[in-house]
Amino acid sequence: MEKKEFKAESKRLLDLMINSIYTHKEIFLRELISNASDAIDKIYYKALTDKSISFNRDDYYIKVIPNKSEKTLRILDTGIGMTKEELETNLGTIAKSGSLAFKNENEMKDGYDIIGQFGVGFYSAFMVADKVTVISKALGSTEAYKWESDGAEGYTIEPCEKDMVGTEIILKIKSNTEDEKYEDYLEEYRLKNIIKKYSDFIRYPIKMDVTRRKLKEGSENEYEEYTEEETINSMVPIWKKNKNELTEEDYNNFYFEKHYGFDKPVKHIHISAEGTVSYKSILFIPEKIPFDYYTKEYEKGLELYSNGVLIMNKCGDLLPDYFSFVKGMVDSEDLSLNISREMLQHDRQLKLIAKNIKNKIKTELISLLKDEREKYESFYKSFGRQLKFGIYSDFGSEKEMLQDLLMFYSSKEKKLVTLEEYVSRMPEEQKYIYYASGESVERIEKLPQAELVADKGYEILYFTEDIDEFAIKMLMSYKEKEFKSVSSGDLGINTQDDDKKNDVEENENKELFQYMKDVLKDKVKDVRASKRLKSHPVCLSNEGEISIEMEKILNAMPN
Ligand code: ADP
Ligand code: MG
Repeated sequence: MEKKEFKAESKRLLDLMINSIYTHKEIFLRELISNASDAIDKIYYKALTDKSISFNRDDYYIKVIPNKSEKTLRILDTGIGMTKEELETNLGTIAKSGSLAFKNENEMKDGYDIIGQFGVGFYSAFMVADKVTVISKALGSTEAYKWESDGAEGYTIEPCEKDMVGTEIILKIKSNTEDEKYEDYLEEYRLKNIIKKYSDFIRYPIKMDVTRRKLKEGSENEYEEYTEEETINSMVPIWKKNKNELTEEDYNNFYFEKHYGFDKPVKHIHISAEGTVSYKSILFIPEKIPFDYYTKEYEKGLELYSNGVLIMNKCGDLLPDYFSFVKGMVDSEDLSLNISREMLQHDRQLKLIAKNIKNKIKTELISLLKDEREKYESFYKSFGRQLKFGIYSDFGSEKEMLQDLLMFYSSKEKKLVTLEEYVSRMPEEQKYIYYASGESVERIEKLPQAELVADKGYEILYFTEDIDEFAIKMLMSYKEKEFKSVSSGDLGINTQDDDKKNDVEENENKELFQYMKDVLKDKVKDVRASKRLKSHPVCLSNEGEISIEMEKILNAMPN
């Protein structure tokens, strides 16, 4: 028998979970069941491409078996199983090392269960169990192995006997404490309840032997108990249900069950499309940025099902990059089952679906913006940057798609506003949409260049992210109004009276300006009397397309 210690990080996380004060311990069952369901999916998926594997639906199920006298709860599945190595890598370490960092960065709000937010499902078993045993036999293997752990010290792995391919998880349920009735997790009604609540949509039967009573034969008032195997879940996938049968909670449960994210989504979109292409889809707009979102590791995509069968985990072709934060799934009967990745790229149906989805997401984001501004802003703080990148990297070709989703901080409103809002309150004589770039709102407020525009009473949009100005340059204009940086030479503001004064000043100070130019040499192109200054003695301005801020960024870029 080999005894091994958990990797350090796993140890800390385990500790955190077992000792956490979060109340929703019951979700351990959801986690174990969804792992079991994933394991069956994996066989299904394999069978699609490997002719030697046949998949007979009836052979695949999950079974939950409580045993009160032994105080054990067993969860078994007929899924793909795990080899010895897989037991070690999958259960001995935590795959997503970013989880811990995430927890530290984001103080968890009350009312969320921590596991749902972590997606480290398996370990949640230790919230209710003193000891966890996993017996598994992998598909195509003749050997079975037993993994066992009491949580704290590490785990052991040894060979064992098992007939069927699949996995069996045995939880030694903790004894009741004053605060927590762990032994309730051995009660039929409690288990049934939890399964219904979280796992009703699992596509394979979750079975349990339930106790029933019937009249004793030949008797009129004497009953006897007997057990019968029952399938607890309804198995209809959530996306095949009618929208009005479903509650917000159902959708959120699905989001957690699928580990789409750690947050509570700001919006779900349930599509049931029929016509040139039929498909069903459930999409989620997350509120928070996944910890790996702005890294190379992040992979966009939706789960792709063909008539209820998972054929791809992350189909990237279904989402444009600028909507890469969207989570969810698509199920279509019109896709062929044994479709390969290469074929998918050229699939006409898939392209249609992608286009459809893209438009739907936009419409829903706009309605979120109109109807639930706070939620939209919260979303925008997380993903606005991605939308701007979208405009920039597509060279403005997605202008129509994205421009109405943008928001910038406004000098007048002191909050985020849309371009539409800006343009709608522009005074008639105002020619341009003005913006000022800087590191922060506070820095921009102090910009001497902004004074003249502000003095005129014009609203200024504050660009505090380096992408802002680049994206706007791609947009060029909004509703035929061009964008203008407050630091540009010609602001398009009428200053006739000042012009004469300026000429005089210019002449009077010719020598001084020449001297300044000599001193500054190639740092500036020209030194001139300015008509835009109010309370500052001097400011920098630019000529041409590139603003001072953009120049700074460009100069900072490696060549
Ligand atoms: P996740 O499901 O998010 O990957 P978990 O902690 O729930 O994380 O599970 C870790 C891994 O252990 C899974 O990805 C899977 O490879 C493996 N695993 C867990 N339960 C089973 C099971 N019942 N059958 C096969 N593999 C399993
Ligand atoms: Mg899991």
